[in-house]
Amino acid sequence: MTDWQKSDWRKKPRVQMPEYTDADALKSVEARLASYPPLVFAGEARNLRAELAAVSRGEAFLLQGGDCAESFAEFAADSIRDTFKVMLQMAMVLTYGAKVPVVKVGRMAGQMAKPRSAPTETVNGVELPSYRGDIINGFEFTESSRVPDPERMLQAYLQAAATLNLLRAFSTGGYANVHDVHKWTLGFTDMNEVTKYSDMAARISDTLDFMAAAGLDTDRNHELQTVDFFTSHEALLLEYEEALCRMDSTSGKWLAGSGHMIWIGDRTRQPDGAHVEFCKGVMNPIGLKCGPSMTSGHLKSLMASLNPDNEAGRLTLIARFGAGSVGEHLPRLIKAVEEEGANVVWTCDAMHGNTIKSSTGYKTRPFESVLREVKEFFAVHNAEGTIPGGVHFEMTGKDVTECTGGVRAVTDEDLSDRYHTACDPRLNASQSLELAFLVAEELSA
Ligand code: PEP
Ligand code: MN
Repeated sequence: MTDWQKSDWRKKPRVQMPEYTDADALKSVEARLASYPPLVFAGEARNLRAELAAVSRGEAFLLQGGDCAESFAEFAADSIRDTFKVMLQMAMVLTYGAKVPVVKVGRMAGQMAKPRSAPTETVNGVELPSYRGDIINGFEFTESSRVPDPERMLQAYLQAAATLNLLRAFSTGGYANVHDVHKWTLGFTDMNEVTKYSDMAARISDTLDFMAAAGLDTDRNHELQTVDFFTSHEALLLEYEEALCRMDSTSGKWLAGSGHMIWIGDRTRQPDGAHVEFCKGVMNPIGLKCGPSMTSGHLKSLMASLNPDNEAGRLTLIARFGAGSVGEHLPRLIKAVEEEGANVVWTCDAMHGNTIKSSTGYKTRPFESVLREVKEFFAVHNAEGTIPGGVHFEMTGKDVTECTGGVRAVTDEDLSDRYHTACDPRLNASQSLELAFLVAEELSA
């Protein structure tokens, strides 16, 4: 796409983006960000694309997960480590179930801008602009905190850079050794309460013992001590994305330097809008959220503009319909993909269609609904003869109480104990791992 410019999105209608009042402050932040190094490099985006191409053929499985919104307040080594750790555990269980490699993509190192269903929120009769993620405005419910502040982009960049740095260190520095990852799972008492999980864990132990006996041990095999871990976020705040967009010197193509994969949200996927315009010009793998309002016509036109050369691994369709609604919506979109002969990865975001208000007033997601949506997603793909390529979760490695259910049975009353999310409710470590066992069971059925 030779005539595309990284600023072209500015000519298109934009939604869900802040209006900065201080134009000079914004310009100065953009100039500083544009002079900073990108967070990722083009070769990594190409590698992820190749791995996602394998997912599209059913030769790998995608696990994408992390916070709904990373926050400045929760930014700490422990939170990064815990989420990374539980994702590795999930990936190991899923590898065992799917019998293919698992591509690991964090909603991490840049997931800080949020689309909102309403522009304002009212608490005790006071109406203020909605919180839009720490890269835009503050969570605190005060007038000054809710004013969009461009300086926040610099803080977000530093946080993303430090997060990615730690993830790279964990991935290659010995922390991701398969035996250690499996030991964490064995030590997870919640899992041991359920025989079918402990049975599967024991079978994984046997497999690892066999591999070691056969000489495939970690001392000699680099692949057993390191992992490839990629980052992703919603490309919502286009001033930030444009400032980090760089030309790859080897291919001459544009790269979104803010993360390995970026996605377009369900509220910002207007075929002629600013977000699609930006994403179509960068070489990164692109995710596209597909909610109930996605029509076949829109999907066809989005596939044509986002993946004109029909490259495998370029486009991931992230279905998020809600438990009970997958059968109503997914078949028409699968049909649209098949009619176009389009190469896509199909994955299931089992979170965003399952948000409810609990009896105690908290926004929550029942574990049962999350699981049910994943099962429906697999069932529709099995019926259509297409490939259910992966799962997408909002989750954390911390022991929060934000989603109800799971072996440790979080109840509506428990939600107030450790409800820490800056935005949507996340699965905790125990619920995430339990879900991986259940998905692995589906995959091996
Ligand atoms: C999200 O992934 O956090 C999100 C807002 O999703 P969606 O665009 O699908 O509503
Ligand atoms: Mn969310």
